[in-house]
Amino acid sequence: MINRSIAIDGPAGSGKSTIAKIIAKENNLMYINTGAMYRAVTYYAIKAGISYDEVSKLIDLIDNLEMHFEGDRLIVNGTDITDELTYPEISNNVSNYAAVKEVREKLVSFQQKMSQKYEVIMDGRDIGTVVLKDAKYKFFLTAKAEERAKRRCKELIEKGIEVDFNNILEEIEKRDYIDTHREINPLTKADDAMEIDTSSMTIDEVVKKISGLLN
Ligand code: C5P
Repeated sequence: MINRSIAIDGPAGSGKSTIAKIIAKENNLMYINTGAMYRAVTYYAIKAGISYDEVSKLIDLIDNLEMHFEGDRLIVNGTDITDELTYPEISNNVSNYAAVKEVREKLVSFQQKMSQKYEVIMDGRDIGTVVLKDAKYKFFLTAKAEERAKRRCKELIEKGIEVDFNNILEEIEKRDYIDTHREINPLTKADDAMEIDTSSMTIDEVVKKISGLLN
């Protein structure tokens, strides 16, 4: 199934998930939001009081999480936890859990299995470089940090969550740093990915640009 698969990487707020959702619908692909999976692990770990350096506890925890996607919703052990995953507490901690080698091995293996079963569009940080190294289409979305923070604020406000622009900008920059500097599968553009700076593009423009390249 790897042939029609699409890999989208980029930093937080670069537009990956919004764009991936639309392209999934238009092309009848399964959308796999890998960031949501790392967030789900973080959510349950925090709930269980497990810190990111308690590796064997984290592995046990992950082994007991059954995750699947229904459209753009992530269902874990039968519960739709998608809305909880954007809480600031999760955003502020997820990069530490996502830097743990064993956590990545588990989730990458799950993601690769999904890509063997279905035609997918997957977004994340290591999709073009690791998870779907052989994907036919690879995109790397970027945008200035201020613009990405602005988008995140808007999203959270729409969900009724109170935000402070400077806190969000700080959180995004901190995540960018951890995600690009971690030892295992850091965020980086695959050599064969097309880079698109979305800073001054509308969602529609980005979708059109990507769709125009698919055949
Ligand atoms: O995409 P999103 O911003 O929701 O991802 C949350 C976090 O999950 C990222 O900041 C990163 O630390 C981690 N992540 C990752 N690898 C992926 C997807 C997300 O490390 N493929």
